[in-house]
Amino acid sequence: MHIFFEYLTGVNVVEQIWQDFLKIAETELGMRAVETWIKAVSFYRCDTAMKKVYLKAPNAFVKDWVQTHYSTLFETHLKKLLQFDVLTIKFFVGEETAESELVLPVLPSSAPVVIPKKSSPRNQFALTKKNDTHHQVTNRLKLQYTFDSFVVGPNNSFAYAAARAVVDKLGTLYNPLLLYGGSGLGKTHLLHSIGNDVLLKNPQAVVLYQTTDRFVNEFINAIRFNHMQTFNAKYKQVDVLLIDDIQFMANKEQTQEAFFHIFNTLYDANKQIVFSSDILPRDLGGLADRLKSRLEWGLVADLQVPHLETKIAILKRKASAQNEQLSDVAANLIARRVISNVRELEGSLIRVLAFASLTNQPVTVDLIGKVLGVEQKAHSVIIEFDAVTKAVQKHFCYGLTELRSQNRTKDISLARQVTMYLMKKATHKSLREIGEFLNRKDHTTIAHAVARIDELRKIDQDLDARLQNLERELGSHI
Ligand code: ADP
Ligand code: MG
Repeated sequence: MHIFFEYLTGVNVVEQIWQDFLKIAETELGMRAVETWIKAVSFYRCDTAMKKVYLKAPNAFVKDWVQTHYSTLFETHLKKLLQFDVLTIKFFVGEETAESELVLPVLPSSAPVVIPKKSSPRNQFALTKKNDTHHQVTNRLKLQYTFDSFVVGPNNSFAYAAARAVVDKLGTLYNPLLLYGGSGLGKTHLLHSIGNDVLLKNPQAVVLYQTTDRFVNEFINAIRFNHMQTFNAKYKQVDVLLIDDIQFMANKEQTQEAFFHIFNTLYDANKQIVFSSDILPRDLGGLADRLKSRLEWGLVADLQVPHLETKIAILKRKASAQNEQLSDVAANLIARRVISNVRELEGSLIRVLAFASLTNQPVTVDLIGKVLGVEQKAHSVIIEFDAVTKAVQKHFCYGLTELRSQNRTKDISLARQVTMYLMKKATHKSLREIGEFLNRKDHTTIAHAVARIDELRKIDQDLDARLQNLERELGSHI
């Protein structure tokens, strides 16, 4: 026997109860799970006589998932909200059947209950459903991210070259290409550049840039609304698939499964696939082995932290894109304050330029200090050690390996002492830290080097000029 109360004093109380339940669920599970799973289910009706709630799921997948993962949550809170002493929850798909009943223990309470109108179950997804079918692929490319606006330096030239080569030999040369590197180093920029360049050369190509997050959501919606066919069809017509931040597919087995099949289909049809990841797939937990191996099947190209020169070039390029001129000294100073992340570098530049423009001042060393001074301090050690060794390598041709070695040939010793000298003067780091960095156990070696270079530059004009150049490049005020 089913009893239906449609409205109570003009307010749909069940609607209210459902909303309250969603709020509670959100505090317990977070918005994402609620949006993905809980809201996929609708409160279909409540049978007060039988103390039974009918929850309707759009398909068996959602039903099973919600039932396995969230039935306790439904039981506990709906029982309280409905003020039932006992509650049976019945999940069903389509027309209700006798399956999926959960009987709960008795909880003393007494209360009348309101039931929703059967013909108008709460189902906000019925609305989105109509719009959820995509037949056409929107490429989602950002036009400002192009190969032209990408500054190439030793840190990213390999990834850049690989990306360009992919465009020239779509689907055949490096497939898939995996761009790999830390945050803010240009992975997304290169993915879009590939897409934009492909379209420039062949406007008919079907290009799709997709973040892994969106892919996951799209997949879940496809399942929820029985759109798997549309979903698969959409991906299978793509010529160039650009998937950003694949690391976010970790621990999402169902999505990985779906993606695996899409990957195989595209790959077999010689369609180009490019991924980005901030971690090497083989080091990523929660990723199926067969998918891991596919991701590294083609070429893995890494992006590294830019050197000082590249950072300066990026800053100048970005400034001129905004019709601003940045002096060498200013670019140097900003570049030295941000170690490893081009996004942060851009952020610093934007803050500096905005401050200068708002206060109507030129971009001076003082102004940069004022805007970036305090907040960036924590980063300074790594910037400067790194910047010093890079600069020394440029002028003295010896890299970190030689500097850290025990090789005492004259030239290497000089380069090493210059490095110690610059590190001491420019970084304000302790002798011990410098010693550790350069593989020197005895800190007095550093002190000795500083004193020696100080003396040498007074008498050796050539050395002094080289040091001045170095100091200017480093933007330090020694
Ligand atoms: P990632 O995806 O690796 O986290 P992004 O591609 O989003 O990094 O880059 C962050 C920002 O830095 C973007 O605005 C991008 O344009 C810029 N950027 C990164 N590397 C370069 C570069 N080599 N030249 C110009 N801009 C760059
Ligand atoms: Mg990115």
